[in-house]
Amino acid sequence: MSDNLFERFAGRMQERGDADFIVTPEGQHYRYRDALAESARLAGTLRDLGVRPGDRVAAQVDKSPEAILLYLACLRMGGVWLPLNTAYTGEEIRYFLGDAEPALFVCRPPDARVAERIARETGSTRVVTLGTKRDGSVMEAAAAASPFEAVEPRAAEDLAAILYTSGTTGRAKGAMLTHGNLASNAEALTECWRFTAADRLIHALPIFHTHGLFVACNVVLMSGASMLFLPRFDADTVLEAMREGTTMMGVPTFYTRLLQDERLNRERVANMRLFTSGSAPLTAETHEAFRERTGHAILERYGMTETNMNTSNPYDGERRAGTVGFPLPGVALRVTDRETGRELPRGEVGQLEVRGPNVFPGYWRMPEKTREEFREDGFFITGDLGMIDERGYVHIVGRDKDLVISGGYNVYPKEVEQVIDEIDAVEESAVIGLPHPDFGEGVTAVVVRRPGASLEEADVIEALQGRLARYKQPKRVFFVDSLPRNAMGKVQKNELRERFRDAYAS
Ligand code: ATP
Ligand code: MG
Repeated sequence: MSDNLFERFAGRMQERGDADFIVTPEGQHYRYRDALAESARLAGTLRDLGVRPGDRVAAQVDKSPEAILLYLACLRMGGVWLPLNTAYTGEEIRYFLGDAEPALFVCRPPDARVAERIARETGSTRVVTLGTKRDGSVMEAAAAASPFEAVEPRAAEDLAAILYTSGTTGRAKGAMLTHGNLASNAEALTECWRFTAADRLIHALPIFHTHGLFVACNVVLMSGASMLFLPRFDADTVLEAMREGTTMMGVPTFYTRLLQDERLNRERVANMRLFTSGSAPLTAETHEAFRERTGHAILERYGMTETNMNTSNPYDGERRAGTVGFPLPGVALRVTDRETGRELPRGEVGQLEVRGPNVFPGYWRMPEKTREEFREDGFFITGDLGMIDERGYVHIVGRDKDLVISGGYNVYPKEVEQVIDEIDAVEESAVIGLPHPDFGEGVTAVVVRRPGASLEEADVIEALQGRLARYKQPKRVFFVDSLPRNAMGKVQKNELRERFRDAYAS
C-alpha cells in the first residue's frame, strides 16, 4: 500500500464518488468526487503561485470546507501543510513566518495587508487570501491555468505537514510530520474506532490543531465517512447535529457544556454510536455524568502534536474513566525515570515515552531540542507524567513542567486538584507551584467557585486537612471567575503562574 497520504485518500475518494464528504449546517454538500476535482484545481493554483514540492504552505484561515480542500491540494502537489491558530496576531505570525519560511501564506481577506507587511519583512513568502463560499470569495488567486491532475510522489519519510504545538508549556515548536506518520495513525484509528463509509462525524473542533485536522479529517478521509462541519462548538448546533451524526470527537469542555443542557438525553443521542475525548483530561465525574444521561461511555484517548495519537480506550471492553486506555497497535509506550531513563514498574509514576510509526522525526529547525527529547533507542520523551496500572491502562497524572517540587517532595497537581474539586462549593481548580522562600516551590490552588456559592481561602485549606499529606496541601488559595483556557480547552498554567508569581514574596 502507498505511503503517500494523498494517494491513500484519493483511492477512497474515488470509490465514494457521489457520496457526501463534507456537509455544512447551511445545507451545503461537498461530494467526494467534487472534492477530488477541486483538490486538483487548487493544486494547480498552488503550483502557479510558485509552490514546489517540499515547500511549506502556511495557512491562517477560518474553518471552512474550502480550507480542507486546500489542505488536500497541498498534499496532492507535494507541499507541506502548515496551519496556524486563528487566534495568533501580528507578533506571533511574524515569528512563525520567520521560522517556517513558507513559500506561500494563505490568510483571511481582512488580514491581508498586515500579512503582506510581515511577509515582506520575514522573507520571500507570497501572500494570498482564502475566503469561503459563504462570504462569496473563494481563493483570491483565481483559477489555475490547468489543474494538477497527477499526485506528486512522496515517500513515507517525506514531510506532509509542520504543526506547531499548542504552546501550553512554552513557546510553540514546529513538529515535522511525515506522510508515514499521518497515514499509519489515520489507519490505526479508523480500525480501532470502527470507522466506515456509513459514519457521519460531528466535527466541531478547530482545524489548525492535530485533533481536528489529523485525527478527525484524516480518519474521515481514510474511511470514506462524511462529516458535519460546524464552524465551532456550540451546544445548540451540536445537539441538532446529533440527530444525523453517528460519532463525535470532542475535548472535555464540549462534554461539560453539553451536560449543562437539559436537552441532552438518551433519545437525543439515539443515532450516535461513539463519543471520544482528548487534548485535555476528562474528569471521572464528567465521564460518569455523561454515561448516566446518555448511556454512552465517552472513549478517552491521548495524543499530542508530535506523535498524533498514542493511546485509546478500547472500543469493545471497558472504557475506564480517568485513564487514556492502551497504546494503539504498533505504538510502544513505557514509563521511565526522567533523570536515569530507567524503566519503572507498573503502578509507578514517571515520564511517558513513546515509539512507533506515529512519532515525528523532530522539531523543525531545532536539532538540539530534538536530540534532548529522544532516547537513543528512539523513544520520544513526551513531557507527560503518568503510569500504567495493573490492567495495562495508561493514566496521565500531569505534565513534567507542572510538577511541583515543594520542600524536596514531588507533588502532582492533578491529585490535589481532584481532592479540591470534591468540595461542594468548588466548580473547578488548578494547582500550580510558585517560588517560595522556604520550600522552593509553594503548592498553590487557584479555584473557581460554583455560581452563588460562598467559599474562602480558609474553608478550602480546612477542607483538605487530613485528606492530603501535609506537603501536598496548598499554602495559599486564590479565587478566579474562570480558568484561562486555550481553544482546545487546555488550562494555561503558565498564565496562572505569571499572574500569582509574587504570592510568597517577602
Ligand atoms: P506545548 O507542547 O507547546 O507546551 P501542548 O503540549 O499543550 O503544548 P499539544 O500537542 O496540543 O500541545 O497537546 C498535547 C498534550 O495534551 C499532551 O502532551 C498532554 O499533556 C495533553 N493531553 C492530550 N490528551 C490528553 C488526555 N486525554 N488527558 C490528559 N492530557 C492530555
Ligand atoms: Mg507538548
